[in-house]
Amino acid sequence: MSTSSMESRYRELILLIEKYNYHYYVLNEPLVDDATYDELMREIVELEKNHPELIKGDSPSRKVGGFAVSTFAEVRHDPPMQSLSNVFSEGELQDFHVRIVKVLGIDEIEYSMELKYDGLAVELVYENGILVQGSTRGDGVRGEDVTANIMALKNVPKKLKRGAVPSLISIRGEIFMRHGEFERINEERARQGETPFANPRNAAAGSLRQLDASITAKRNLNFAPYAIGKIEGNIMPASQKDVFSLLIEFGLPVKEYYTFGTVDEAFAFYHHWMENRHELDFDIDGIVVKVSSFEYQRRLGATSKAPRWATAWKFPAREALSVLESVDFQVGRTGVVTPVGNLSPINIGGVVVKRATLHNFDEIKRLDLRIGDTVKVKRAGDVIPKVIETVKHPENGGEKILPPENCPSCKSKLVFEDIFIRCINPSCPAIKLEYLKFFVSKDGMDIEFFGPELVQRLYDAGKLSNASDVYRLTKEDLLGIERMGDKIAEKILASIDGRRKIGLAHFLRSLGMRNVGDHLAKVIARAAGTLARLMRMTREELMDIREIGPGVAESVYEFFHGDGETLVRDIISLGVEIQPEEEISALASDIAGKTFVFTGALKKFTREEAEALVESRGGRAASSVSRKTDFVVAGEAAGSKLEKARSLGVKVITEDEFIKMAGQNENS
Ligand code: NAD
Repeated sequence: MSTSSMESRYRELILLIEKYNYHYYVLNEPLVDDATYDELMREIVELEKNHPELIKGDSPSRKVGGFAVSTFAEVRHDPPMQSLSNVFSEGELQDFHVRIVKVLGIDEIEYSMELKYDGLAVELVYENGILVQGSTRGDGVRGEDVTANIMALKNVPKKLKRGAVPSLISIRGEIFMRHGEFERINEERARQGETPFANPRNAAAGSLRQLDASITAKRNLNFAPYAIGKIEGNIMPASQKDVFSLLIEFGLPVKEYYTFGTVDEAFAFYHHWMENRHELDFDIDGIVVKVSSFEYQRRLGATSKAPRWATAWKFPAREALSVLESVDFQVGRTGVVTPVGNLSPINIGGVVVKRATLHNFDEIKRLDLRIGDTVKVKRAGDVIPKVIETVKHPENGGEKILPPENCPSCKSKLVFEDIFIRCINPSCPAIKLEYLKFFVSKDGMDIEFFGPELVQRLYDAGKLSNASDVYRLTKEDLLGIERMGDKIAEKILASIDGRRKIGLAHFLRSLGMRNVGDHLAKVIARAAGTLARLMRMTREELMDIREIGPGVAESVYEFFHGDGETLVRDIISLGVEIQPEEEISALASDIAGKTFVFTGALKKFTREEAEALVESRGGRAASSVSRKTDFVVAGEAAGSKLEKARSLGVKVITEDEFIKMAGQNENS
């Protein structure tokens, strides 16, 4: 790049960042996603590193990005509320650590590891234990006075607990909004024709920065304290560890998710939360790693923007913008036709995404989606990417997306059922194929090495048209498939053989009856005992089973009095033995009939094993806590479910107590 084009790129970047900051911090309506913003910031930092002569005194790399708008009175922060430096990989955190130990001249260091709450930073001032002021971070030095709004928040104590409180203390932390509240507010806004908030962070910021505090009072905002700005009196914390202990003593709502340890433990903390963040009912965008000792913090110092003793390790982005190029319609195993968007390929957190589900036509209407739209796409965990927002329509207005009238596979007329469109032709090739994929999958018979592609190939080769054909497959059939090796063919056949003796519940779930998932399959199997009895049961008898309503009873009855009967008899004639379900007496254990939710890391089981144990004892394993939950089993680093259990008064037990209840030998 020539010097002049570099200079103009640098100026352009700074203008862009200033514009984005204004929309993000003042209007609470970001123009771009955080990953795009972070990338531009990195480009600025890179240019400044290689060309220090370009650096401007007010470069965004040197100052905190917020604003304090004049509609609020001004509050001065002493010491300033800084931002945080960022790292994006293990290598970068290691570099951060190496720099620290070098400066301090020591080998080991204790870090505080915390969640990076995705909200907005505030400072609360307590004089002699009484809350007197609340302010936003603003530009770090000047914040906005939002005392009345802070006073309206339920979970911010107006008075500190504990006898000897300091004469003055400023406490810093994040105001954030839980997902349930975010959805509630957005639904309300949609009803009133207002634009919904883009995400919980913007909703939290928009709700706090209100001139009318009575609006803030109606929004359920949460506060996560994580620092002390200033403290006067005779209490002097010496580390971040002391800070958390003091904040807890003062009755501040410290969340339990922090821990202390070495840099290696920080790696583990990061990976734990990256994998489990979906368990939290609020957004985090990474973790924060801080040197715990204040003495070390003082020696490390700070830049004009951020301390040198702390850094934020951000999670890879889960959202990005793309363009909706076209829409396909996919037929599922139950006949439901789902619209799927084809997107301009986009990298989201290291994975290239080209397709995303649009769910159904209600969703297409809600998003006002049209072909050519710029859309926001979200990828979360293993879940299929989805379009979550329409950012803008194309200049020509965009082509409307209309529901198909005929099945894209068998061309028969589609039926509209509530928000779903369904193909009801039982011999529709797409439904059959999807059902076969399900039958062999983990959620069905769980046959190893039998993926959807192999199903497709065997189907195309005419070797697999019904579920029972799985048990007819020969080695020659498998070897006829392109690139199929001898060894793998044998493994597939062995895995099929391994499923020739199977429990009734497992078999039922694999049949894929409408409305009968894993849990109800178990309920039905336990009540019926044997397959022969189940096949003879009347609608009324089915309805008498606890948890079974008329819809499920009807679909089970219909199944065994229609095509299902032929299929089941065919499978049995091929040597598959359906084993009766063990009768479980409600008195046999304390678990029967009770609902359990597991949270945190268990030591003796995987989550699946613990849930299977509950089910095998006649209990129910649920994924979220409600008033109907009987027990929450809390493992290590238990998250929001634990908090929810406590707030609902649900009984919380340890893993060991659970083991005792299940009558398991703890040492086994
Ligand atoms: P930051 O959000 O990366 O980190 C600093 C902030 O983290 C602190 O001020 C505090 O509010 C918060 N935080 C949460 N948990 C914490 C904890 N446990 N301990 C300490 N702090 C904690 O930096 P920033 O300066 O507030 O904002 C910059 C970031 O905001 C950017 O990297 C970008 O992701 C986003 N941003 C986006 C846009 C946009 O247009 N999309 C615009 C501006 C900023």
